Amino acid sequence: MSVTFLGMPADRPFPRNAARAVRDSQLRFNLRKATRTIRARRASVVAEAPDWAELREAGRAIKEHTLRNLDRYLVQLEEAVTAAGGHVHWAAGAAEANRIVAGLVKATGETEVVKVKSMATQEIGLNEALLEQGITAYETDLAELIVQLGDDRPSHIVVPAIHRNRAEIREIFAEHMSGWGRPAPEDLTDEPAALAEAARLHLRERFLKTKVAISGANFAIAETGTMVVLESEGNGRMCLTLPRTLISVVGIEKVLPSWRDLEVFLQLLPRSSTGERMNPYTSTWTGAAEGQEFHLVLLDNGRTRVLADEVGRQALRCIRCSACLNVCPVYERTGGHAYGSVYPGPIGAILTPQLRGMGSELDRSLPYASSLCGACYEVCPVAIDIPSVLVDLRSRARHPWPERAGMAAAGWVFERHGRLARLQRAGGRLRRLVPRRLPGPLGGWTDTRDLPEVPRESFREWWDRTDGGRR
Ligand code: SF4
Repeated sequence: MSVTFLGMPADRPFPRNAARAVRDSQLRFNLRKATRTIRARRASVVAEAPDWAELREAGRAIKEHTLRNLDRYLVQLEEAVTAAGGHVHWAAGAAEANRIVAGLVKATGETEVVKVKSMATQEIGLNEALLEQGITAYETDLAELIVQLGDDRPSHIVVPAIHRNRAEIREIFAEHMSGWGRPAPEDLTDEPAALAEAARLHLRERFLKTKVAISGANFAIAETGTMVVLESEGNGRMCLTLPRTLISVVGIEKVLPSWRDLEVFLQLLPRSSTGERMNPYTSTWTGAAEGQEFHLVLLDNGRTRVLADEVGRQALRCIRCSACLNVCPVYERTGGHAYGSVYPGPIGAILTPQLRGMGSELDRSLPYASSLCGACYEVCPVAIDIPSVLVDLRSRARHPWPERAGMAAAGWVFERHGRLARLQRAGGRLRRLVPRRLPGPLGGWTDTRDLPEVPRESFREWWDRTDGGRR
């Protein structure tokens, strides 16, 4: 099976990445502060929506229906986009999508593009691929800009620079902005307003001189061929309207059948992601505007394989709201980089190993990057049962050798009643020699739990001795 590229190298397993991350006290402080704030905001706006449960069920049902009829809706989308003057391209994998986009940019004669935040383009490593072709991509989302200037990697779906605090951002702006365009003011402070103003001036200059833009889309409406982008800063709107050529790279699971379906998601998404009643900017466009050229690149990159999986396919319902990240106790302590893909947190733990396959140590370890507390399922606006998918993926991943050895030994003992009885008798006699802590790699279990005491006699022995409790 070919390996699906997901934007970040897959090398060390999650526990090793996590062990390093949890030793970084600044990172943990930044994450705790940010996730707790967003979590509280989300809880309060969800609580004030009396029909939240119905909305959630509607979101789940629409996505489920669309995925079951994806072939039909994708063809309808292609026809509608083409009829509205756009061009549709199909990309099976990251390399093909990158090749298509680079070819489209080159055809314009430009060597610079602006980008509105798009997970799909991060997933395929578009910026790096364009750079190899001599094309520079400039991120215009504030958090993405911070990540790009800091030569960093995103660590959250909605707030990619969540691991950075104000002081760090000021340093990044002061040091690196000049290398990418308009420099930061000399007297830049770490006040949010000052940082936002520096970014605004820097980006404004970029928007006015760039002729090609690349975007993703939160939703693509099959009925009309309309792309929908939700964002909070207005930078996306500039990016979508000013350039002459607009290229949208969109995962095939983003399609929705009709405008009416969008109504549900315009309520679910902002409340779940940033804790707002509605998002500040919703941009929609259908085909090419006058004087503009529009290309839609529909990306598979492993999605049809996920769709074929009866349990795991629900991950494709995800609307990338990040609510599951913000409540996850594992994510809160490790941050996003430990997951080794552009999709971190609980959704990353189920989506990445499915999209990429479980060929690497990291991908095999991701289904274990969870305490299975179920908080992610509780908050998911499209009711993805993340814990069930995690358990299913765990059953398919090759288990660590101590676990395999333990299960094989248990299987041998339980196979015959006599073996079990002899082992119980021996255990009862040697109970005082049983250590409080298990040795070697098994110690991970007893580091945080007490070993249960071995009883003096087994239940069967007790039953025989007391005649079922009568003596
Ligand atoms: S899995 Fe659910 S909660 Fe997590 S990002 Fe996707 S839609 Fe949001």
